[in-house]
Amino acid sequence: MPTILFAARPERWNIYAPHLRAALAEVGLPDARLVTEADPQDVDYMVYAPNSKVQDFTPFTRLKAVLNLWAGVEDVVGNATLTVPLARMVDDGMTNGMVEWCVGHVLRHHLGMDAHIHGQDGIWRSGKVPPLARDRRVGVLGFGALGRAVATALMPFGFQVSGWSRSPKEVAGVTTHHGAAGLSEILATSDIAVLLLPDTPATENTLDAERLALMPKGAVIINPGRGPLIDDQALLDALDAGHIAHATLDVFREEPLPPDHPFWAHPAVTVTPHIASETRPSSASRMIAENIRRGEAGEPFLHLVDRDLGY
Ligand code: NDP
Repeated sequence: MPTILFAARPERWNIYAPHLRAALAEVGLPDARLVTEADPQDVDYMVYAPNSKVQDFTPFTRLKAVLNLWAGVEDVVGNATLTVPLARMVDDGMTNGMVEWCVGHVLRHHLGMDAHIHGQDGIWRSGKVPPLARDRRVGVLGFGALGRAVATALMPFGFQVSGWSRSPKEVAGVTTHHGAAGLSEILATSDIAVLLLPDTPATENTLDAERLALMPKGAVIINPGRGPLIDDQALLDALDAGHIAHATLDVFREEPLPPDHPFWAHPAVTVTPHIASETRPSSASRMIAENIRRGEAGEPFLHLVDRDLGY
């Protein structure tokens, strides 16, 4: 039976242990040894979070795979001591959470809800009725597990949805773009842009001054992806110039976002504290157990990270 080391933060153990045990039993591995401490040479699989105390994988000579609890792998993908397969987290629960957060924030901006939430001052502001979704263009940058789910959830409202990815994609009802030329196309046609790209050398500053200028005047940016996707100063300049109407940001170059960062005080920025979605222990444990089952059966692992691409 395989030995599985839980190498995330210790306080997560009590939350995950019952779910992992149940999921391992479900895939036919009820006797798997699930531990928080082990001789590194005995460990077959590691359930991992990049903020783990394990940063040197060299002693784990028998390791078959590292199973990340997070979707983002930017803090582990470059670890030269990690030479075995690395799987990132794709979890139904996390996907649902991200869909709900993104749809909520898209609707907030689409409907202009702030005007009335903040306008409870006795003034009857009639006459300006919200537009229909079919007249609003939403671009989803990063068309992977999360981006596609968000696009799929927005479509029934009638939004004109487009997606951008590295490689070409075909999705019914969505205008798809890819590569550098595709980025200019999607930005020019996005009234609301949702960023769901990973943090890699190729995605840093995807929204810089030049790219922000391509967006329609009055566009809104929603970033639950990663902080480095945006050039902070370029965004502040575009907001101050009124070219970008609002930015709702969940992720930042430095987290927690320092109290003196200009995003906090900017009237056209909404800061949320990296809460768009998180891994849900019950569904994530099923994902991890399935990958361990696959490893034991000699089948290919799911959701492997491409170490060269960085995601
Ligand atoms: P995926 O790996 O499934 O999707 C990534 C998408 O980005 C793919 O469509 C990929 O293209 C595209 N992409 C990558 N590099 C480029 C590039 N250079 N140019 C254009 N497109 C590119 O990731 P997920 O959807 O699972 O997650 C996306 C990100 O969301 C995570 O990396 C993480 O940073 C963030 N996240 C944030 C959370 C939060 O609470 N704020 C929670 C969970 C995740 P292709 O399809 O061609 O490979």
